[in-house]
Amino acid sequence: MTELKVLEGKKLTVVGYGSQGHAHALNLHDLGMDVTVGLREGSKSWKKAEKAGVKVATIGDAVKGADVVMILAPDEAQPAIYENDIKDNLKSGAYLGFAHGFNIHYKRITPKEDINIFMVAPKGPGHMVREIFEGGHGVPCLAAVHKDLSGDTKEIAYAWANGVGRKVGVIETTFQEETETDLFGEQAVLCGGVTELMQAGFDTLVEAGYNPEVAYFECVHEMKLIIDLVYEKGFAAMRDSISNTAEYGDYISGKKIITEESKKAMKGILTDIQNGTFAKSFIEETETGYKFMDKERDQYSDSKIEEVGSKMRKMVFSK
Ligand code: NDP
Ligand code: MG
Repeated sequence: MTELKVLEGKKLTVVGYGSQGHAHALNLHDLGMDVTVGLREGSKSWKKAEKAGVKVATIGDAVKGADVVMILAPDEAQPAIYENDIKDNLKSGAYLGFAHGFNIHYKRITPKEDINIFMVAPKGPGHMVREIFEGGHGVPCLAAVHKDLSGDTKEIAYAWANGVGRKVGVIETTFQEETETDLFGEQAVLCGGVTELMQAGFDTLVEAGYNPEVAYFECVHEMKLIIDLVYEKGFAAMRDSISNTAEYGDYISGKKIITEESKKAMKGILTDIQNGTFAKSFIEETETGYKFMDKERDQYSDSKIEEVGSKMRKMVFSK
């Protein structure tokens, strides 16, 4: 089940060479697998991938004859790529992989009948998946099988996960569970929750007249140092490492920030994910030119926290 062997001698294709694409392709290539990267014609990543030592072809050519195809283009681009470049080129009995369940779960892609479908979702941003692998370690991956015609799709998924994540651990899931928990985690906690928490803390101190540089270190920069402790050793060891003053304040104040009201908001977010409301609004956003996202990005790049942050990061990382 955990052997990489089932991928040996197979023709593996990774579609896309972005955050996840370069990590899957290069990690498997480093382990001696036969990897081709599929890119659109004129792709800006073509030279980069070739320089890194992997074979590159147009998506259609890379998919033709492939045994396993992992699709690692942005979720919103995948339905058209599948329709135009994958469907008619993918051989019968091949395995089609995803790193996120979105398009299968929300039925944006309905794969043809004669292929196997699996997922390997590394639990980390693509650049970390590669960097940690290069350092000799790995990240855990979720793996799921949606359709198993050949009877060994789970072995293929586990082998892919163990290759990309260097055998750190594979957790079995379903397309539904991965999609819903992944969207929830990034919205409520990891991305949306954390950035708004840091922003609100920074604003509170700055509005009270404190030096924005001090506020940035306190509410943004130090986040990583604390979270690294949680990541490596858990809440208790983090609390053991901070002062008693900090630990007492943690117990007294944390629950005033994340209240029953916040939990209610989290449940609302989860409901919107489960009933497809979030997916629908994201797809609408991508189909109408990313107007809302561009506005948010502009607003952020003009913000005080970014002005101070870019200065502080220069100071910290230029040494
Ligand atoms: P990226 O945005 O980094 O993918 C960029 C790559 O996709 C580039 O090579 C780009 O081509 C190619 N691409 C973009 N649009 C098209 C198109 N219309 N036609 C053909 N190729 C295209 O994607 P991610 O790595 O962020 O995401 C890939 C998958 O992995 C998604 O399913 C995502 O949910 C999942 N995932 C992502 C994580 C992450 O860390 N980002 C974490 C876990 C899962 P070009 O080089 O020519 O521009
Ligand atoms: Mg995620």
